[in-house]
Amino acid sequence: MSKEPNVLKQGAQVRRSYCRACYNACDLDVVVLNEHVESIKGHGDNAVYDGYTCLKGRVQGVLLQDPRRLLNS
Ligand code: SF4
Repeated sequence: MSKEPNVLKQGAQVRRSYCRACYNACDLDVVVLNEHVESIKGHGDNAVYDGYTCLKGRVQGVLLQDPRRLLNS
């Protein structure tokens, strides 16, 4: 699924993580630039998921950086 080569902006890093939105815990590559999430996609070398994530996993960076997100409950 996510086998295309990464073209990173200068200074960007790929950090490996996983999605915690459900029990599947999909394996993620998170592109971070200046401590800001630029993009998220599935980690292509995972033998189980083979780069798969659902939409919820790929939008976690958008949710994290939304100024309207719930900070306290
Ligand atoms: S990417 Fe989707 S399927 Fe994978 S852990 Fe997150 S919510 Fe679950």
